[in-house]
Amino acid sequence: MPELPEVEALTAFLSARLTGRVIAEVRPVAISALKTYDPPVTALAGRTVGPVVRHGKFLDIGVDGLHLVVHLARAGWLRWREHLPVEPPKPGGRNPLALRVRLEGPDGDGFDLTEAGTKKGLAVYVVRDAGEVPGVARLGPDPFDPDFGLERFRALLAGERRRIKGVLRDQSVLAGVGNAYSDEVLHVARMSPYKLAADLSAEETARLFEALGSTLREAVERSRGLAAGELKAEKKLGMRVHGRTGQPCPVCGDTVREVSFADSSLQYCPTCQTGGKPLADRRMSRLLK
Ligand SMILES: [Zn+2]
Repeated sequence: MPELPEVEALTAFLSARLTGRVIAEVRPVAISALKTYDPPVTALAGRTVGPVVRHGKFLDIGVDGLHLVVHLARAGWLRWREHLPVEPPKPGGRNPLALRVRLEGPDGDGFDLTEAGTKKGLAVYVVRDAGEVPGVARLGPDPFDPDFGLERFRALLAGERRRIKGVLRDQSVLAGVGNAYSDEVLHVARMSPYKLAADLSAEETARLFEALGSTLREAVERSRGLAAGELKAEKKLGMRVHGRTGQPCPVCGDTVREVSFADSSLQYCPTCQTGGKPLADRRMSRLLK
């Protein structure tokens, strides 16, 4: 799933290509992706785009008084097209195309929103104000907000009895960090994902805050200037522990381990993060019985 750094890079990519352009046509193909009906998507045609901004993991394309808000979820993606085919797209079957936006101009350029997963998570909203999207309205502070400092971070964690891994990826606590970057941030901070947020010492909170900022900034730096199509591969390449089960930790050489849950998994380095002890994994212990 694209997280803050990828959506940030995508926002810059689209901003450079879309701002000031006029939308010629919007074609919804997979109706399930469309979460609003008033105003209709067709209302976007004839309007000028700008600005393009990000709210957490949501992409917000301003369109002259309206907003096309997109949440890419697990398997959604945006594909920029220099020349869109003239014939209308065919819905259904294995076609991953969910929505097509064509711009005015001789080239027929624009973009496709696609959904490759079986769990249809891609969500598209056309609203008058981005705050009308429930997921946007619920968002906690953004780590890149200039007002977001260590004291604010400390206040978010105070009294929080959940494990730090779950807290970091809770969008209503902190906007933009998901399963991948929370693994990365915890590895950089040399902290167990199972640690209770409220139990963090002042020094640990400061270390985690520093790791959060540096990890996200470095990821954005790596993604800057990349085309939309290259962002997913870049995200994967930049990972230290996430998605690297069984491979050596780039810091200490220990083997990266995994804990599996019903619909996700986390990765960590025992030497760097848990004092060398593997974390309990219910699935693994069941398999070993
Ligand atoms: Zn390590």
